[in-house]
Amino acid sequence: MKTEQFSCKAIVKDGYDVIVAGGGPSGSAAAIAAARAGAKTLLIEKNICLGGMWTAGLVNPLFDHSNKVGIMQEIYTRLVENNAWGGFWGISFQYERMKWLLDEMTAAAGVTVLFDTVVTGVKTDNDAVVGLFTHSKEGLCYYPAKIVIDCTGDADVAALSGAEIKIGREKDGGCQAATLMFLIGNVSFVQQDAKELCKLITEAVETHGLDYKIPFNHPFVINVPGTDTAVVQLTHMRGYNTLSGTDFSAAVTEGRRQAMQTFEIMKNYVPQFKDITLLQTAAMLGVRESRRIVGEYTLQLEDLVQGKKFSDSICICAFGIDIHEPDSDVQTNLHSQPYGIPYRCLIPKGVKNLLVAGRTISGTHEAMASYRVTGDCVAMGEAAGCAAYEAIAQNKDVREVSINEIKRHIANWTEIAENE
Ligand SMILES: Cc1cc2nc3c(=O)[nH]c(=O)nc-3n(C[C@H](O)[C@H](O)[C@H](O)COP(=O)(O)OP(=O)(O)OC[C@H]3O[C@@H](n4cnc5c(N)ncnc54)[C@H](O)[C@@H]3O)c2cc1C
Repeated sequence: MKTEQFSCKAIVKDGYDVIVAGGGPSGSAAAIAAARAGAKTLLIEKNICLGGMWTAGLVNPLFDHSNKVGIMQEIYTRLVENNAWGGFWGISFQYERMKWLLDEMTAAAGVTVLFDTVVTGVKTDNDAVVGLFTHSKEGLCYYPAKIVIDCTGDADVAALSGAEIKIGREKDGGCQAATLMFLIGNVSFVQQDAKELCKLITEAVETHGLDYKIPFNHPFVINVPGTDTAVVQLTHMRGYNTLSGTDFSAAVTEGRRQAMQTFEIMKNYVPQFKDITLLQTAAMLGVRESRRIVGEYTLQLEDLVQGKKFSDSICICAFGIDIHEPDSDVQTNLHSQPYGIPYRCLIPKGVKNLLVAGRTISGTHEAMASYRVTGDCVAMGEAAGCAAYEAIAQNKDVREVSINEIKRHIANWTEIAENE
């Protein structure tokens, strides 16, 4: 890659104790936790809503929430109270309520939220992150920070700080397929099993001799609670490098093409969907896998299979390994036992003042195919926010923060017995 040094002027803004980059499930939780603990907290988000894949990405259902305490439990309770929970498999939520809830929770915690703002650069000093550069309508800005939490879903801050990064599977860097979710209205269909939608579409294609190949063999129609809408998880884009601007854009266009083509076939040739309308494609491409950090510990497939619980487990992940294969239309499911996510996986090696939460923590391609689901991302974000506060309050490195210091901030914490 050819690089060149440019000098640019940036507006210097007030500093924060904690800056969270990215306001998805992990970032929203990280910012709420840090601010509630007492840190002056800034949350920077490139969309105009919080929630990341939950909201802009139209993802449902909310996996692996039921064994969670703290902020995840609170989000669940508030969605239930607002009749915004249920639908598909009884674990789905309304998108607009989720956006509003995250607005409310961040505001109540005292988080300053910046929408429509992209983190573009990192300032480091002796391997320590000391601030972030952003771009927005204000122009280029610089925000000093004591601790940064990278929740960008692509480990943007970690990569910009020079932290060691892994991408995709070990043998060739292949990443899981990307999906552009699309929302349909006037839906009366409720999918009963994993093969049903694929079968209905494939049969219609064969019966009518249509020129169409379904891109994924386990697609789902996912009903949104309290509405007649459903989100369709079907488009699959493989072999695109979603960290390249041109490749990412090509994947988006291909996703929209697949969504439109599939919608036409469902509406015109599958009787169960004859009344549906196409409401929208997601505002955010669903990237399942890109960068992962190399942290102080790396979760391995064997840890998941053996159900390891570590002395510094921040939560239990009870979701199986779910790989949307990089080069075929197959979904590979591997069995795991409930396992702990060690706090050490959130700490990138060789960089100070930086924590990472969400799908980009330190784990192998197979391991991340399990803990990437949103219930776990929230728990990781909450732990990172608490750890950041503790490091600042006690003037120590994030590596020196103990699980006892983290858990004292987490409501309804339940002990996780170590079995290493
Ligand atoms: C198609 C698809 C379907 C899925 N289905 C499910 C499911 O059914 N249930 C489930 O629980 N999980 C599901 N997952 C997994 C889950 O959605 C993600 O792994 C999870 O959302 C990751 O959370 P995160 O907080 O790490 O990142 P994200 O949700 O990706 O959030 C990252 C946030 O950071 C922002 N951001 C990124 N870069 C920058 C930057 N440089 N500056 C500022 N902001 C930035 C983004 O706009 C976004 O808001 C699915 C994932 C995909 C892709």
